[in-house]
Amino acid sequence: MNEMFYRQSALDCIANGLLKNYRNGMYLYGAPRSIPIEEIIEVEYKLTIEYVKLRKSGNVLGQTVFENCFVPVYDKENEQYTIIEVQPGTILIDEALLEEENMGRYRYTLTHELSHWILHHKIFDNSQESAAKTTTESNSKTEWQADALAASILMPKMQIKKAFFFNARIKR
Ligand SMILES: [Zn+2]
Repeated sequence: MNEMFYRQSALDCIANGLLKNYRNGMYLYGAPRSIPIEEIIEVEYKLTIEYVKLRKSGNVLGQTVFENCFVPVYDKENEQYTIIEVQPGTILIDEALLEEENMGRYRYTLTHELSHWILHHKIFDNSQESAAKTTTESNSKTEWQADALAASILMPKMQIKKAFFFNARIKR
């Protein structure tokens, strides 16, 4: 697989561009607030989010499907893996992440998968591979890039700075 390298600053740029174009940039320039990541994925990128049990072990949290393909998912009722057909542009999320206590992880996984869609569409395009987010550490460049872009989208540096200065000001 041919991997492309993005620097951190390039990823920040992509994240800022995404937020600048969304709702007149209110999430970049306005008061710091939670990024509506589901809405961005579904409305802006026209991707579909589906909730399934990805693995029996629970160690795959998300998967981005770039091409029409067949994906194994775990069928809890029948206690076996089954194959489902998924349309291109689908983000599969492990249903365990829907539980209240996993909300942070859920948002992060969604954004990680969106980042694969933005950055690695071309890399995965001609292969049967799809990007999968696992709970085990992966040190491949594509995983690092998706993590770094996800962090830049959910916590835009400009907003962090603003929040920092705002807090510093009101403390005095
Ligand atoms: Zn990944």
